[in-house]
Formats: sequence, C-alpha cells, structure tokens
Amino acid sequence: MDLFEYQARDLFEEHGVPVLRAKVADTPEDAKKGAEELGGGTVVVKSQVKIGGRGKAGGVKLAHSPDEAAQRADEILGLDIKGHVTKRVMIAEGADIAEEYYFSILLDRANRTYLAMCSKEGGMDIEELAVERPEALAKVAVNALTGIDDAKAREIAETAGFDAETTDKLIPVLVKLWDVFQGEDATLVEVNPLVKTGAGDIVALDGKVSIDENAEFRHEDHAGLRDIDAEDPLELKAKQLDLNYVKLDGEVGIIGNGAGLVMSTLDVVAYAGEGHGGVKPANFLDIGGGASAEVMANGLDVILGDDQVKSVFVNVFGGITACDAVADGIVKALQILGDSASKPLVVRLDGNNVEEGRRILDEANHPLVTQIDTMDGGADKAAELAASR
Ligand code: GDP
Ligand code: MN
Repeated sequence: MDLFEYQARDLFEEHGVPVLRAKVADTPEDAKKGAEELGGGTVVVKSQVKIGGRGKAGGVKLAHSPDEAAQRADEILGLDIKGHVTKRVMIAEGADIAEEYYFSILLDRANRTYLAMCSKEGGMDIEELAVERPEALAKVAVNALTGIDDAKAREIAETAGFDAETTDKLIPVLVKLWDVFQGEDATLVEVNPLVKTGAGDIVALDGKVSIDENAEFRHEDHAGLRDIDAEDPLELKAKQLDLNYVKLDGEVGIIGNGAGLVMSTLDVVAYAGEGHGGVKPANFLDIGGGASAEVMANGLDVILGDDQVKSVFVNVFGGITACDAVADGIVKALQILGDSASKPLVVRLDGNNVEEGRRILDEANHPLVTQIDTMDGGADKAAELAASR
C-alpha cells in the first residue's frame, strides 16, 4: 500500500526524522486556516496524490500569506496529475533550501536484499539521473539483520560523495529513516528531496512510503492509512469478510479452495474462454481450507455483487474440509442469498467424500447449479454460460 506524502511525513515525525510542520486541507478555507496555524508566513501548498512529479505538474506551489495559501489550494484542489485527481493538499512550512539530495531504501528483489540509494543531486527525476549518470547515484546493499547503523549510514553518505561535515549530519537521519523502513514494515522509503537548509540542518521535504500489507497484523495503526475512497468496493467488502479476493476484468467468477487451485483455475478458464468468444476470469477468490456455509455465502455474495460476472465456477478439491461439507455450504449459501443469487453456478467437486458431496447437490437440485465432474469440463461449461448471457 502506497501512502500519501502527509502520511509518510507523520511516520517520519513519529520516528524522529526531521520534517517541517504541516497541516492537511480539503478546501481553500482549511488551507488558509492551516497556513495561519503555521504562523502566517511562507508555506508550500502541495497536492496529495500517490504519484511523483507533482512539482513539475504544478502541484507544489509557494504561498506568502494565508490568503495566498487559499488561492494556491484552490488552484491545486481538483488538479489532475497523470490521472490522479487532487482531493487534498498539504500545507507545509516553507523551507530555506540550500541543497537538495536523494535518499531511498527499498527491497531489492533481484538480489534478495535491501538496497539504499543516495545522491547529492536530488529534487529532480531520479530515474533520469540513474540512466544518464549512474555514477551520481550511490547504491549500497543493506543487510536485513544489521540494517542501517551509524557505520552503514556513513558508508552510504561517503559512497554518494558527501563531504565530512554533511556526512556527519546525514548519519542520524539515515539511521532514523531505516527505523521507519524496518519499524513500519515498509517496502519503500524514499525522500526526494532530502534537503540541507541555509542553517545547515537536514530535513526530509518529501516522503514516499509503501507499506507491506502482509504485515498489517502487527500494525493496528496502519488500518487508518487506507484510502477507502480509492479502493474497489468489492475488494474492500471481501477484506472485511476476511476473504482472499482480487478483482479482475473478465466475466467468469471463480471460487476455489487454496491459492494454487484458484490460480490454475484462472488458467483453465482463460483457456476454455478462448473457445467461447474470449471470456475471461472475473476474479480470484480463495475461500481457504475450511469452506463453511458462511464463508461460501460470503464468497458468492462478493462475486455475485460484481456486475461484470455472468457465470460462476466453484472449483473445490475436498481435503481436510470434505466435499459434503462444501456441498452443504453451497446449498446453505444459496438459501442465505435467496433472490440475490441470480447467475448460473458451475460446481466441480472432487477429493475427500466426493460422492456424498455430489449427492447433496443433486438432491438440492437448485436451478442455478450445474455439476460437472472435471475441472476442464467445469471451466468450459462456465465459459459457455458466460458467453451466452
Ligand atoms: P514531487 O515533485 O512530487 O516529488 O514533489 P516534492 O515534494 O519533491 O516537491 C518538488 C519540489 O518543490 C522540490 O524538489 C523542492 O524544490 C520544491 N519544494 C518542496 N517543498 C518546498 C519548500 O518547503 N520550500 C521550497 N522553497 N521549495 C519546496
Ligand atoms: Mn519529490
């Protein structure tokens, strides 16, 4: 999950990284109030969108009075930056910038380690710098166990070519930025620009942080960082129901137990879909091991709530949860959903107690349910039904 700059700024502050005071505002009036609360002097009004290059796009503007802050906010609110519409601005104290640097910590997947990148030439497009003058961007591997301590921070700053005085000032800031990265379970912490002020202080003027959602369980406070507006409502609902759901673009809803089975079901449905006018899987939904009636009902409810879905393929291999329990789950789920279940369901059961499971579904004889014994056959039937509706 990518964070907004103001959220990154708050995390920086919590971890002792030097930042400037700031307020957020959703209206020009609030921007004015924010500027007043910051002392009424010069402020920067910054678009809060999850995309870089705001400065160049006119999303970062100076204002010398609270009234001017309101005007700048009025210009920036609603501004579209590469498809991201500004709904909120951050009002930050103006900085007296002497030099702009670049610093980031990220997950280096290729080398299976963390990587710190640092440059004396920040502020501008770092991608450009990396391509045109790679020697100006220091890259230093960071061991996950030892992280960035004083010695590592010194190595990073010296590799980037900083003088002794600036290196000494950078060290505690880099160590604290590592603290953010590790402490918040981030996959990216980027500061561009990290500035030296006229007074010689180091300050993080911009912040880009991505949080690893897999670590959410140990960060209760991260729930408040979600951008509910921007999330797919079905994905949000699934998350609240504790379901592993990813919305895709196609027409065949898919429910399976176990990520491996669901993934191969996506492939099989996409393949079968080619024989039926190119219909595709509409989602990924793994109901996991214990597919109770309630979990099945929740899963079906989420999938049937997707207007794009024309048919549903339930592909379950009974293991610890036997097929009869899954079949019971499907029957009860359809009872729970009643009239809101309106799309054809193709069910393929196999594995533990399959005969009893198939018998339960046969007996229930629900008009929406078609049983197919094989995965390929089920995928083909589901694709055919989706194509014909
Ligand atoms: P980005 O373009 O989305 O990365 O947004 P930044 O937050 O990095 O801002 C872009 C540029 O605006 C920075 O490189 C700075 O040069 C400038 N800027 C940002 N904050 C301030 C500030 O407080 N004072 C001044 N004078 N310039 C700022
Ligand atoms: Mn920036």
